[in-house]
Amino acid sequence: MSIRENLSDLKSCLPSEVTLVAVSKTKPISDILEAYNCGQRIFGENKIQEMQQKYLDLPKDISWHLIGSIQTNKIKYIVDFVDLIHGVDRPKVLEEINKQAQKVGRKVKVLLQMKIAKEDTKHGFDPQELKEYLNSNEILQFQNIQILGLMGMASFTDNHSQIKTEFDQLKSIFEDLKSMNIPHCQMEILSMGMSGDYPIALESGSNMVRIGSSIFGGR
Ligand SMILES: *Cc1c(COP(=O)(O)O)cnc(C)c1O
Repeated sequence: MSIRENLSDLKSCLPSEVTLVAVSKTKPISDILEAYNCGQRIFGENKIQEMQQKYLDLPKDISWHLIGSIQTNKIKYIVDFVDLIHGVDRPKVLEEINKQAQKVGRKVKVLLQMKIAKEDTKHGFDPQELKEYLNSNEILQFQNIQILGLMGMASFTDNHSQIKTEFDQLKSIFEDLKSMNIPHCQMEILSMGMSGDYPIALESGSNMVRIGSSIFGGR
């Protein structure tokens, strides 16, 4: 199926309040333009330099999301245009984003990545650690960062109920933090769900899905 057909199938099953991030990592400019010409404006990349190059080559009304783990020494290459950074998984990353954002006079939007999967390869804050951190003074210094929500990845497994449990857990942390009304930390976006598990993520209350292979084909 074509990118156009994949996108329209996908759109027709996503509720209107759910934001679609089209994950275009490793895919050529021509594929991104095909999706762009169908109206898609939000694209996700996981490599900073690849994202920078695509930003330069493509229309400037695209909203670029950085997903996946972050190489802190490269944040400077994208800090002036990136729209949302999903994978902030440790204090050091916030610190570096803040520092670079300050230099260009921007306030950069981020999501905090939570570790919900049992796999060691998936990183992120653990819930208790995050609560303490959000209530610490350290985070108040970050004037050039806007925390907008949480992101998480479920285990890579066929076990539907395990995935559901992990997404439910993330949703409950999200609600919990939201109810705490931490001033410098808005809980608006819950980024969870990829090609293989987004229907489960939607059941658990995701409002942002990051989908690559179901749109652009395998990598
Ligand atoms: C690659 C990637 C996706 C998209 O994965 P698909 O299975 O192709 O939909 C989503 N989120 C992150 C963090 C990724 O690295």
